[in-house]
Amino acid sequence: MAVLRIDRIRAAAARELKGATTSAELEAVRVKYLGRQGEITQLLRSLASLPAAERPEVGRQANELKAEIEAAVSERLVAARAEERRRQLEAARLDLTLPGRRPPLGTLHPLTQVNDEIVAIFMRLGFSVAEGPEVESDYNNFEALNIPRDHPARDMQDTFYLSEDTLLRTHTSPAQIRTMKAQRPPVRIICPGKVYRRDAPDVTHSPMFHQVEGLAVDRTISMGDLKGTLELFAREMFGERSRIRFRPSFFPFTEPSAEVDVLCFNCGGTGCRFCAQSGWLEILGCGMVHPQVLRNVGYDPEEVTGWAFGMGVERIAMLKYGVDDIRLFFENDLRFLEQFA
Ligand SMILES: [Zn+2]
Repeated sequence: MAVLRIDRIRAAAARELKGATTSAELEAVRVKYLGRQGEITQLLRSLASLPAAERPEVGRQANELKAEIEAAVSERLVAARAEERRRQLEAARLDLTLPGRRPPLGTLHPLTQVNDEIVAIFMRLGFSVAEGPEVESDYNNFEALNIPRDHPARDMQDTFYLSEDTLLRTHTSPAQIRTMKAQRPPVRIICPGKVYRRDAPDVTHSPMFHQVEGLAVDRTISMGDLKGTLELFAREMFGERSRIRFRPSFFPFTEPSAEVDVLCFNCGGTGCRFCAQSGWLEILGCGMVHPQVLRNVGYDPEEVTGWAFGMGVERIAMLKYGVDDIRLFFENDLRFLEQFA
């Protein structure tokens, strides 16, 4: 009887082994027959209860079957594991020829780029950079620049006052005052930096923006030098075919004063939406330094003359790139900023 049972187990095990393909299935077959509660294990354990005459033969055959199943499972496991490993590698295959992923690299802000470009143009002309604090004295920001207490430009609406006598500078001109107070002529400087005005933000106004101002003081400085310098600047900044024109204007710190327009590079002067049909785009203000300003810093206006100009970096950037809303520069929207990479 026990021998018949062995034949039955052998046939069942052979069938199940045939159906098992994965290492997990093969492992399950091994446990079913050879594990602690496995059929052959139990058979061997029950030998003692068999008639003494049957015991040796049944024991021999059971051990033989145990060895057979062990060998078959082991052999099949080696093959199954190799196949599984192969599939795993196939699925996770690395293409070593693929280019690596580049980490995203930031770029300079468009205002920084334009500022650097303006500064580089004037440095090539022999100007050096002078910077000053953004928190200034009322004297350096207004008084020294010939803007007395009762001047309309002093209106509280325009200036962020921090105290009676300190404020956030409304232009970078105080850096010119500081430089002139500290050194004798000749002076040839540009003053880039942030300035602040109490303006409600709209498409052309921001309470903080950037300026580059320039100043030249020497014994024989004339309006002609100013015009030549700005013409050269316009060609470098906006292209070889750029032309500029001077329009009379008024500033308390220059006399005479002028606004400078550049020929509209969109329409070439015939008039378009970009230049409000005028053919010209205003880019900066300038003039000969007022004699009183020279006196205020201890220079003798009989001995030296000078000119100064000031431009908004945002304004130049908007013209150069056709940006129609100044607020775009400060919203930090990467979709906007990435266009200047
Ligand atoms: Zn135009």
